[in-house]
Amino acid sequence: MKVLVTGGTGFIGSHTCCVLLEEGHEVVVIDNFSNSSKEVAEKIKEISDRNITLYEGDVADKDLLRGIFANEKIDVVIHFAAYKAVGESVKLPLKYYRNNLGNTLSLLEVMDEYNCKRLVFSSSATVYGTPEALPIKESFPLSTTNPYGTTKLMIEQILKDLAKADPTWSIAILRYFNPIGAHPSGLIGENPNDIPNNLMPYIVKVANKELEILSIFGDDYDTKDGTGVRDYIHVMDLAKGHLKAIEKVMKETKIDCYNLGTGEGYSVLELVETFKKVNNIDVPYQIVSRRPGDIAACYADPSYALEELGFKAEKGIEEMCKDAYNFIIKNKE
Ligand code: UDP
Repeated sequence: MKVLVTGGTGFIGSHTCCVLLEEGHEVVVIDNFSNSSKEVAEKIKEISDRNITLYEGDVADKDLLRGIFANEKIDVVIHFAAYKAVGESVKLPLKYYRNNLGNTLSLLEVMDEYNCKRLVFSSSATVYGTPEALPIKESFPLSTTNPYGTTKLMIEQILKDLAKADPTWSIAILRYFNPIGAHPSGLIGENPNDIPNNLMPYIVKVANKELEILSIFGDDYDTKDGTGVRDYIHVMDLAKGHLKAIEKVMKETKIDCYNLGTGEGYSVLELVETFKKVNNIDVPYQIVSRRPGDIAACYADPSYALEELGFKAEKGIEEMCKDAYNFIIKNKE
């Protein structure tokens, strides 16, 4: 199949490209490198020993998109391209609504023009807001606590309205839990330019002495050790979930949502201690007050993705911690 991957050089996008190429699919990427670099495209080629077709530009640019759909016979689209920093979205909501909603609308309109109606959309467990119970099922009520999350929820709604109006659309909405880790080669991974917001990239930078100390946001939650609990999933497992999702949208014409997580919850302290142990390195930390907007615990019920997509995450947190650090060491070299 020929797959158009928007944001294909980002963290999840780049790993997904590798899995698609390994599976023998043709990959066309559109990316504006706003939070990645061209070098990642070279790394993807190096890992897979295959070529990809790269279009540099914005997904909001309908003429560029039209050119792509006219040149390439795209079978299915995986839409990753979006801004994703929660804190920034609170400060700059219009930037987030303009980019995340605007580029999605352009993409959907041009897909419609070219009668390409198979889509996998990158959503997030953030659409569950403060979950009413655990583990989280796809049927739980949806709400958000920041503009980034609201863009994901709004796009889910747009997709549902679209599929209702035109049932020939086939759409898989993937709600990611917390992706961490990196490609086992160490060639691609997560490398935020600024001070990271997320836990694993922060741990890695402290271990690497780029940052002094990790601040753990609260140890007074109602969880196993008082620190926040999340469902960490290896980015390679997550990438494989996209492979299952494109198979699903090619085979069955419907819209549906799937949790991509492991179903296991680990606390901040458990993740830090595992990281220290498997990498044999110190990660100094201090306990500070809770981060506004954080929830105590969040983990998936992954059974629907298993039933419907045949997807099950396989890698454990030790491997996630090893691969995340391996990427940084390799890049230092
Ligand atoms: N966290 C932390 N220190 C950090 C970053 C995150 O203690 O520097 C905690 C955060 O409070 C949460 C967990 O780590 O309990 C995961 O946070 P992350 O931002 O990675 O994911 P999200 O909160 O979006 O699930």
